[in-house]
Amino acid sequence: MVDGPRTPAPIALGLIGVGKIARDQHLPAIAQERSFRLVAMASRDAADQQDVIYSSLTELLAGTPEVTAISLASPPVGRADLAREALLAGKHVMLEKPPCASLGEAHALEALARQKALTLFATWHSREAAGVAGARAWLADKRITGGQIAWREDVRVWHPGQNWIFAPGGMGVFDPGINALSILTEILPGALTLRSADLEVPENLHGPIRARIEMIHDFDVPMAGQFDFLYEGVPHWTIDIHTDQGSLRLDRGGSRLTIAEAEVDCGEDREYRRLYRRFARMVLGGTSEVDLRPLVLVADAMLVGDRNKAPPFHF
Ligand code: NAP
Repeated sequence: MVDGPRTPAPIALGLIGVGKIARDQHLPAIAQERSFRLVAMASRDAADQQDVIYSSLTELLAGTPEVTAISLASPPVGRADLAREALLAGKHVMLEKPPCASLGEAHALEALARQKALTLFATWHSREAAGVAGARAWLADKRITGGQIAWREDVRVWHPGQNWIFAPGGMGVFDPGINALSILTEILPGALTLRSADLEVPENLHGPIRARIEMIHDFDVPMAGQFDFLYEGVPHWTIDIHTDQGSLRLDRGGSRLTIAEAEVDCGEDREYRRLYRRFARMVLGGTSEVDLRPLVLVADAMLVGDRNKAPPFHF
């Protein structure tokens, strides 16, 4: 009898940081994705959550040595320390976006993963949205003439009580805004650089609540971005790109693509399932992916941005 190709055993996974995105997206995606077997979760509030046994990554690593991969869905500040601990314990690591609170942390982790021959996957979930691949393919042979991002949502609705978002390293309105930048850097064929930024920062907080940025594509073409955390009503998560052969719009966070005003059928939106599938392929293939371009744009906006005081904000 000739054996057929073997299906690899599911990768034993630990999930750290059981908050909104872990419950809304990670857990359903992991449950549907056969490449993974969720072994354990760790949460600082383990006592309050029936399905969580460990209260730290350290405890989880000690209690479930069979875990071979760790997914980190905690906020960006502190994530690099967790990733380092997991890599030093010999585990593959998947990072929520933004991968770290600073570029230096991300570079150091990348080097550590390489040295340990482990997978490090810095995810950008919006790049997996249904319309993104089609947008990238359509733009590949066009001459880009301009573009803009409009990313507007109500922080009280979409990030209720998440005080970390306005603390140092939380990035303020760039926490969702970096999703748009992750799409833009994915679909545009040339380099995108930041030229200027206007940041509105509530006088009682650190992170911007509104921002406007000016970028340049391929050293030539202007691109603009508007990010607003105080936008009430139906959110706008839209990117428009203009070319010598017409315009393209990605809206609903990249899940809907319209080219020359005709909607393109992009199929079902499965961002997190696609992320986990890619992570599995990287673990099995011994590769990593750490693309820091979206974080570079946010870091540059903070470096060169004009900071203006805005009224105080409270959740
Ligand atoms: P969240 O609801 O505040 O949950 C984050 C979880 O991380 C907390 O429940 C907490 O879980 C843990 N944590 C560890 N250190 C923490 C700290 N210093 N402050 C607060 N929580 C801490 O946040 P989230 O919306 O899930 O966002 C987590 C990450 O996912 C962020 O990087 C965000 O950009 C990304 N993300 C969020 C969304 C979204 O729509 N919310 C979408 C995509 C990606 P324990 O108590 O269990 O330790």
